[in-house]
Amino acid sequence: MRSSLLELLAPSVCPACDSPRRPGTPRLCDLCRSQLIPLRLLRGVPTALAYEGTGAELVQRFKFDGRRDALCVLLEPLIERVAELRVDSIVPLPRHPERVRELGRDPVYELARALTKRTRLPLESGVLRRTRATPPQTGLSPRARRTNVAGSFAARPGTLEGRRALLLDDVITTGATLAAAASELRRMAKPHTVLPLALAGTPALLSGGLALL
Ligand SMILES: [Zn+2]
Repeated sequence: MRSSLLELLAPSVCPACDSPRRPGTPRLCDLCRSQLIPLRLLRGVPTALAYEGTGAELVQRFKFDGRRDALCVLLEPLIERVAELRVDSIVPLPRHPERVRELGRDPVYELARALTKRTRLPLESGVLRRTRATPPQTGLSPRARRTNVAGSFAARPGTLEGRRALLLDDVITTGATLAAAASELRRMAKPHTVLPLALAGTPALLSGGLALL
């Protein structure tokens, strides 16, 4: 958000490591590009990138520092995934207003907005809301995560009737939050289908004994 217009037009550093970058070269430096790991699916949820190496660095810079140059890089693989999923609207996974206040912004909403600008799909930000602020999922078991988020979403009745809705989140670990939100959307908003998509997935789970679907 704080990036200057000049920086957007002619970025001078690598968005992931801030090493100097010559105009006309790819945004990411060679080293960061080599450490950007695609991830297509985590626990049955389509994803764009692994949340490690350059992927994790870019997500954190966008999410916590508001780096628009990091967002630009992240958007590209996400747009490819959206095109494959053939959806007709995008629903950002809502944060509780309390969480948005804590961080000062809502990164998933910003991601969804940037995505809808590029794909020209409608942004359905009023369809789903968070009814209570759930404690952070970090450190909880998969079962505790499901309990933690159960009943924490409310969708407006009939608002997505017949639509193929994409439900977007930034980083997923077990997918419990996305699953709870998708189930509430399906139940109340009556879409034709809800397709979850996460920008990045935490592949630590792959070695943690949890099955990758
Ligand atoms: Zn770099």
